[in-house]
Amino acid sequence: MNNTLIAVDKSGSYRVYVTISTELAEQARAIHGAEPVAAAALGRTVTAAGIMGLMLQADGDKLTVKIGCDGPVREILATAYPNGAVKGYIADPAVDLPLRESDGKLDVGRAVGSGTLTVIKDLGLKEPYVGRVDLVSGEIAEDFTNYFYISEQQPSSVALGVLISPDRTVAAAGGFILQVLPDALDECLDRLEMQLRHLPPITELISQASDVRELMDLIFLGMPDLYSPEVLEERNIFWQCDCSRERMEKALISIGRKDLRQLIEEDHGAELTCQFCRRQYNFSEEELKKLFEEASHE
Ligand SMILES: [Zn+2]
Repeated sequence: MNNTLIAVDKSGSYRVYVTISTELAEQARAIHGAEPVAAAALGRTVTAAGIMGLMLQADGDKLTVKIGCDGPVREILATAYPNGAVKGYIADPAVDLPLRESDGKLDVGRAVGSGTLTVIKDLGLKEPYVGRVDLVSGEIAEDFTNYFYISEQQPSSVALGVLISPDRTVAAAGGFILQVLPDALDECLDRLEMQLRHLPPITELISQASDVRELMDLIFLGMPDLYSPEVLEERNIFWQCDCSRERMEKALISIGRKDLRQLIEEDHGAELTCQFCRRQYNFSEEELKKLFEEASHE
C-alpha cells in the first residue's frame, strides 16, 4: 500500500495530498538521533517537503525547504524529488524542551522560534525559483500554509503531525496539504472551512487510521458526497539520500588547492560526513593528492 494519496473533490473545488509518513519521520529521527521535539520538527518538515516533491513535474526537478530560525534547533533542511524521495537535516537534533504547559504537546513552536521559511525549486531552468516568507509560529504546518498563500498565491490548508512514543521513537506521522482550485464553489469552501476548523489534531487521526485511505476518510468524515475527495493517484514518499563518493570528491575538489594542501600536509587524509544521512566518507592522503591534481590553481 502506498502512503500518499492525491485526490480532488467531485465539484473540482480542491485538491488534497494526504500522507502517512511514519517510516520517513522515524528514519529521519533515527539517522540524526533527534530528541522528541527536534524529531517532531524534522518529521513535520520532511513530510511537507515530501508532498511538495510530488507536486514537481519533471524527473530532474528538485525542491529544497530551508527553515532558518532563532530557536534552539537553528536550522532544518529538507530536499525532495518528484519520485517521492526525501532527505532531511536538523542543525541541533539534541534540543529537548519541556512539553507545552497549555496542552502537554511537544513545543515545536518554541524549538523553532522565529525566522524564515525558504522554498527553492530547481526546475532545470537558468535560475531556480526561490520563495521566502517569515515564519508565523514555528509550528511548521501554519508556516507552510502562509508560504503557499504569500509566495505562491495559492490558498491552502496544511496539517502536519508527528507523535512520539514513550520510547522516544516516532509512533505516527503524517498530514495533508489541501489546495483550493481556481473554479472552487463557495459552498464547498464554506463547508470545508467548517470541516477543518472542527478537525481533531492530525496525530490523533493518524493514530486511529490503519492506512492512508482511512486517514483521508477520517479527515473528510461527514462531508457531502459532492465535496468528498476522489483519489486520482497513489504515491509514496520515502527517505533516501543521494550522496555518493563521487559527490564528495567533487566537493573536495571545489574547496581548491590551498585547502586541499592543508588536508594533505596537516591531516594526512579527510573524513567527510554527509549532513543528511550521516554516512562517512574517508579519503586517504594518496586519494587527496589525486584530487589535488584535478583542483584548479586558484
Ligand atoms: Zn547522504
